[in-house]
Amino acid sequence: MIVILGGGPAGRLASIRLASAGKQVTLVEHGGIGGQCLHSGCMPVCALNDVARLIHSARELYDLGVVDTIPVPDFPVLLKKMGEIQQKIASILDEETRSAGVDIIYGRTGRFDEGRAWAGDEQLDGEAVIAATGSRPFVPQIPGIDLPGVFTSRTLPEMKKLPDKLAIIGGSVVAAEFAYIFRNFGCEVTLLSRSTFLKESDRHIRALAVKELGGVTICENTPVMSIGGRDRVGSVLTPVGEVEADALFLAAGLVPNSEMLNGLKKGSLGEVVVDNRMRTSVADVYACGDVVGPPYLTPVARHQGVVAADNILGIPRTMDYTNIPRSISLTHELAYCINKNEGMGSIAIPGPAGPGSFWSVPTGQTGLAKVIFDPESGELAGICAAGPGGGLIAGYMAFLMKNHFSVHDFEEFIEVHPSTDGVYGLAKYASSLLKKRKIS
Ligand SMILES: Cc1cc2nc3c(=O)[nH]c(=O)nc-3n(C[C@H](O)[C@H](O)[C@H](O)COP(=O)(O)OP(=O)(O)OC[C@H]3O[C@@H](n4cnc5c(N)ncnc54)[C@H](O)[C@@H]3O)c2cc1C
Repeated sequence: MIVILGGGPAGRLASIRLASAGKQVTLVEHGGIGGQCLHSGCMPVCALNDVARLIHSARELYDLGVVDTIPVPDFPVLLKKMGEIQQKIASILDEETRSAGVDIIYGRTGRFDEGRAWAGDEQLDGEAVIAATGSRPFVPQIPGIDLPGVFTSRTLPEMKKLPDKLAIIGGSVVAAEFAYIFRNFGCEVTLLSRSTFLKESDRHIRALAVKELGGVTICENTPVMSIGGRDRVGSVLTPVGEVEADALFLAAGLVPNSEMLNGLKKGSLGEVVVDNRMRTSVADVYACGDVVGPPYLTPVARHQGVVAADNILGIPRTMDYTNIPRSISLTHELAYCINKNEGMGSIAIPGPAGPGSFWSVPTGQTGLAKVIFDPESGELAGICAAGPGGGLIAGYMAFLMKNHFSVHDFEEFIEVHPSTDGVYGLAKYASSLLKKRKIS
């Protein structure tokens, strides 16, 4: 038997891979299958962002006189319906996992202790264990943090009504995404970032994010020192003054859930230390997904799960962390995959008009396309595809980058029209520039 602790993207994919190969697999999940991604991460952001984008589009059309109303969300209904759909997805995932042959134990807390796996008090003896217990939002221990009105992505369903003034702690993708959502829902939003906002993103993507977050007050290098309020949040205190707020949303990063994994080597964040085959410091114990630390992305967690499973099956396989696409969901999918900037050539243009961006031409918010390439060989070193469908484009471009495609390969590319993919045209243009330079 193989025991898997945690039924999020990492554990679930590992379990299906192993069961499909004929292994007996027991998955221990103390919450809902689908993990953070389904219950408090990617899917809630999708659900809320879909509504926020609808409102944003309606506002653009309203400003042009094309429609005569801007919809207003019914927040309690939105959360209720979102929860129902999440449960529906969970039941589909449950069925898919079971029909692959996986036994699922729900409602018991798994742990690794005394050299073996446990589901509550029951000892589970297996030939291998996979720890896939994921992560949770980091909660900074500042005065006032326990006041009612403080939320994380986990406790968001407890928000009974939309705040008038929302403060968000964080400067990363999740902070940006929630700022966009709540701003479009009509809240006054102040984003408080301890360092530079979106500091790990490409500069063009960052500039575009700031533009798409118009109306949000973004305070950089502004740590929150304490939260004020008598019986609920009333303000947050920073070194440069007090910010009024009737709710506070924490988007200050994630921490690995590894406290129940005893005897495994861990790093400074509590992340389980693994090698590139997802093997931990203990023989036959593997770990995958957010519990092994950043980048905290579902596709990476899934892939790590498959890599762990294959190594258990005796198929040597290693994790490759290059060419990982990312995206920030605002008006557009600000998607990118960048391997190298230094010494590279690059060209950027505004996103083209097309489905989902035609009516944004008057405001100049059609997104952006960018290619980064080796000036000698033309090999792609990075792309940004910010527009409707940017995530799909970035995923496929990342795959081409992994396979060493160059801008010259795009000479034969024929696109779908109309579309909002500006990257292929830029790649063709970059190819012609490089060739011209070689000729002259
Ligand atoms: C707000 C937010 C938005 C996000 N948006 C994106 C996005 O757009 N794109 C993207 O790629 N990633 C996104 N992520 C990250 C993504 O959700 C995670 O990378 C992904 O869920 C990690 O999968 P995992 O299986 O490692 O862990 P998790 O999804 O955390 O799953 C771990 C599972 O283990 C269970 N568990 C934990 N402890 C135990 C225990 N002791 N016993 C039994 N079960 C246990 C949990 O209940 C959970 O089901 C987002 C995260 C957040 C918070």
